[in-house]
Amino acid sequence: AAEPNSGKTYVIGTDITFAPFEFQDVNGKYVGIDMDLMDAIAKDQNFKYQIKPLGFNAAVQALESNQVDGVIAGMSITDERKHKFDFSEPYFESGVVMAVGIKNDTVKSYDDLKGKKVAVKTGTEGYTFAQSIAPKYGFTIVPFDDSSQMYEDVKAGNSVACFEDYPVLRYVANQSKDLKFVTPKEAGASYGFAVGKGKNKELLEKFNTGLANLKASGEYDRIKEKYLGEAA
Ligand code: GLN
Repeated sequence: AAEPNSGKTYVIGTDITFAPFEFQDVNGKYVGIDMDLMDAIAKDQNFKYQIKPLGFNAAVQALESNQVDGVIAGMSITDERKHKFDFSEPYFESGVVMAVGIKNDTVKSYDDLKGKKVAVKTGTEGYTFAQSIAPKYGFTIVPFDDSSQMYEDVKAGNSVACFEDYPVLRYVANQSKDLKFVTPKEAGASYGFAVGKGKNKELLEKFNTGLANLKASGEYDRIKEKYLGEAA
């Protein structure tokens, strides 16, 4: 028998560029760990969906105002967000780290940020962390809407550093070789798929069941390895 929502196409918000979780390939197609997970879960659970790359902050706001049914965007499961959203089981461990330009030899610790500009991305855990230590270390925050603008500001030398999720910065640093780490990563929350609080319960259940199936079948590990290599 057909399930009540079997005909529905869920609208899923995501980030514009957050490799290796969501980014455009050479053909402009959205790929990445989040995109492949969503695709595999939808196939496993037999539902239709449409991806909307809105940008992180815009996607979270769209979810809050019920303009999208869910968000998958390397979104950290934080206590504050749990007031507004229901999250799936965690699917990836993260944490925030600082990066500086590859040729920067003056910033070796947070103490060296005094009087400098630091790039962050609006609405993210990295932003919240940078903001929490800014008064202590005396740096100024420069907010950007997306990750690539934030990296460009550091590469251009306008900001001396940025704060961003460790798996994302590690991927970017490996690919582009223009950013490096000089400090250890900070503890952070894991990523989850989010729906509005009390909304789209069936979608959340399908996501969780599908995720568990992908973990059991080995597909989840294959998706991670595809983007992160054997170290995943
Ligand atoms: N994990 C971070 C957060 O949830 C950043 C997510 C993102 O920029 N796509 O705040």
